[in-house]
Amino acid sequence: MNQLSNQQISTYRQKLRVLLESLEKKVSKAFYSDALFQGTPIEVFRKCGNQNCKCAQGGDQRHGPYKVIQTKIDGRQKQVSLKGSEEKYFKMAQYYQWQISNYREVKMVLSQIDELMASAIDARIIREKQND
Ligand SMILES: [Zn+2]
Repeated sequence: MNQLSNQQISTYRQKLRVLLESLEKKVSKAFYSDALFQGTPIEVFRKCGNQNCKCAQGGDQRHGPYKVIQTKIDGRQKQVSLKGSEEKYFKMAQYYQWQISNYREVKMVLSQIDELMASAIDARIIREKQND
C-alpha cells in the first residue's frame, strides 16, 4: 500500500539532492577568517558650509563622493566616516553585506527543504482505512 510511486520518490530525492548541494555551498561561505564590518557601505556627497563654494548649489556640485558606513550604535543610526587609509572598512562592510545576503539565501534553502520534507511525509499519509 504505497502512497508514492517510484517516480514521485525519485523526483523528491532529486529535489532534495539539489537543495542539499546548494545548502552546502552557501553555508560553507560563512566559515572564513576575514573580518566583517557591520553596516551598509555607501558613498555620500556633502556641502562644506561655505556659501561662496560651488557646493552651495547642491546636487552634483557638492564635495565627494565620501565613503561612509551606515551602522547602528546603541540602537541609533550612525554614519561612520572613513578617511583614505580606512577604506578597508568599506570593503569589510561590503563583505558583511554579501555574507548577510548569503545567510538569507541559506535560510530560504532551509525552508525549501522543510517544505519538501513536510510534503513527502504528507503525501505518504493514509487518511482512511481502505478495504483491501
Ligand atoms: Zn564646498
